[in-house]
Amino acid sequence: MLCADRRDLILLLASGALEAAEERELRAHLATGCPQCAGYVAEAQAVWSQIPMGLTPVMPSPAARELLRIKVEGTMPQAVESGPIPISRGRQPSPVPAPKKWGAVFAASGIAAAVAAGITFLALNGVIKQKDDLLRQRDAELSGLKVEVKNASSVINMLHSPDTMIVNVPPVEKSPAEARMLWNAKSNTGVFVGSNLKPAAPGRCYELWLIVGDKPADKLAAGKVEVSPSGDTTLSVAWKDPVHPVIFALTDEPDRPNIVDPQGPAVMVGKIN
Ligand SMILES: [Zn+2]
Repeated sequence: MLCADRRDLILLLASGALEAAEERELRAHLATGCPQCAGYVAEAQAVWSQIPMGLTPVMPSPAARELLRIKVEGTMPQAVESGPIPISRGRQPSPVPAPKKWGAVFAASGIAAAVAAGITFLALNGVIKQKDDLLRQRDAELSGLKVEVKNASSVINMLHSPDTMIVNVPPVEKSPAEARMLWNAKSNTGVFVGSNLKPAAPGRCYELWLIVGDKPADKLAAGKVEVSPSGDTTLSVAWKDPVHPVIFALTDEPDRPNIVDPQGPAVMVGKIN
């Protein structure tokens, strides 16, 4: 038998579907350390490890079984056995019936189907996962762009109004950070725009305040200021009731939900003149 012919047998060996005599012969050959067959063994193990667990084995119908039997019996090549070749004198050797390996053949077709199904399943799974990741990435980009467009349009709307004042909000300590507060006293809306800000430290956040008087209750929390990796920020604010801020301030706060009173130092402060 040629080693190439042992390839399918090795796949069957891995599945336990080999007939006893074939298994003995194959194991004896593998014990010789044949490198070609060692490669087939590794290949068979890889194939088996790819098949999803719980795949239902498919048995062919009796008709398909019979059709396959006729086909295999008619075309199955004679296995070349090692050992002395019988020499015939004068007459042809009587045809040796093909060994009956139906169990092996059905197992092989079952394995082929299972392997094909398994590989198709894995390939499809991979493609679907890739598309999912791409869609999620696109969604994130899109929502980021929507926020940017909304911020840009509120800045433009603010600048169109003659009631909008622009207040410089410089850093308290020397820093390249710059910020302006656009405030419309008529609509009680504003936009805080900043650049070159250092992103908040881990566990910290920036909070914007509208200061309307001297009492502690006069510091109105206006929202968390998120800084992009490039140091830019935009925060739109709106009040239902009229407010009359005199100072806009950015503080460095311990990050927490529902900030109502400042606990951290002011990093940028701007006064309305
Ligand atoms: Zn071999």
